Amino acid sequence: MITDNHPFNINKAGHLEVGGVDAVQLASTYGTPLYVYDVSIIRENCRSFVRTFQELGVRAQVAYASKAFSTIAMLQVVNQEGMSLDVVSQGELYTALKAGFPVSKIHLHGNNKSLEELTMAIDHDIGCIVVDNFHEIDLIERILENKNKTIHVLMRVTPGIEANTHQYIMTGNDDSKFGFNLNNGQADQAFFRLRNNRNIYFKGLHSHIGSQLFETEGLLLAAKLLFQKLDDWHTEYGFTPDVLNLGGGFGVRYTERDEPLLYATFVRELTAAVKEHASSIGIPIPEIWIEPGRAIAGNAGLTLYKVGSMKEIPGVRNYISVDGGMTDNLRPALYQAEYEGVLANKASLPAAGTVSVAGKCCESGDMLIWDLPLPEVEPNDILAVFSTGAYGYSMANHYNRFSNPAVVFAENGTAKQVVRRETYQDMVKNDISYE
Ligand SMILES: *Cc1c(COP(=O)(O)O)cnc(C)c1O
Repeated sequence: MITDNHPFNINKAGHLEVGGVDAVQLASTYGTPLYVYDVSIIRENCRSFVRTFQELGVRAQVAYASKAFSTIAMLQVVNQEGMSLDVVSQGELYTALKAGFPVSKIHLHGNNKSLEELTMAIDHDIGCIVVDNFHEIDLIERILENKNKTIHVLMRVTPGIEANTHQYIMTGNDDSKFGFNLNNGQADQAFFRLRNNRNIYFKGLHSHIGSQLFETEGLLLAAKLLFQKLDDWHTEYGFTPDVLNLGGGFGVRYTERDEPLLYATFVRELTAAVKEHASSIGIPIPEIWIEPGRAIAGNAGLTLYKVGSMKEIPGVRNYISVDGGMTDNLRPALYQAEYEGVLANKASLPAAGTVSVAGKCCESGDMLIWDLPLPEVEPNDILAVFSTGAYGYSMANHYNRFSNPAVVFAENGTAKQVVRRETYQDMVKNDISYE
């Protein structure tokens, strides 16, 4: 392994290897920038959730939050691994249908689902809609009535906890755009409406407290608060939930400072808590659902760039520029996200100094990595940036009219392109002449 931080090897040529394939070779075959995934790591990530639930003998669904990285090939892989799927838009649902994902395992999320999105979901009989607000209940009721159909729903609630990576914050007044407030009567009001509609099967509660969690504490507290509400509803109205969905956000390693928990640890602790709460309020253990996104795709993917120009500012900083940037990885510009990388063609050489990696967009803020230790850098070196598998491709954009990179899957020594690089024809294909 190249470092303890990232799960990739160096081959005999001293090159970085992904899924048993030489990364330098991939860059020359498919061009740069290039998203590359080691499919065996995607599978391992899925299995560490799915198998742990199986070992614990509880009913569960592990739904991949497809907004992290949604392409047909990716959804086929997670389906092969027995996962369910979260979608948040017609585009994500369409991709899932095109991938042949079983509709009964698709869940629709979103804080402003449109009539069209809800209609598409109901027409396709997807597994579940996670209801977010009263307007949405109106729309769902109307669609079901008109079409004489039924649907399973969960209710998204805000339990008043906000996860902030290494800590969680109790927010008294639940200042969130998502879901029904658990404590001010809104969740109860929604409960009555959902339960009293004969076309709606109300299955239980959902909460998602945030992302990049490195501890179980916030999730365990969320579970506790959800069960307090379920206890009320059980005692007063005889309601028994079929499902409890505790969301996603399981943290991954971007840099050596990140210390992710084993996914199995999250699963074990959550399951133990759910069992204990269910027994203490006297209901059967509900089916446990979770929704990892970055935990499935994040560390499985990396981005390959070609180094171009370099700028040395004596006594200040050395910049190197690569042939991508905030168009293929928006996270550094959007949330000062940090990454690590290596020169794929010099992966076994020791560092000779530090450089800062600039993207090529017309923004000073388009910096991918500050002060990265690297061997001596030359033009045409191939820089690999690790842990770009989640929210890289999915947030790619067309700033400066850069085309979106290709995506390659590598597994067991074989590489396959699963998304073609955009062409300039693609770039103007929706433009209409005005002359
Ligand atoms: C974004 C999101 C997730 C996944 O978050 P990750 O940090 O990628 O695991 C899960 N559930 C909901 C409701 C989300 O909005």
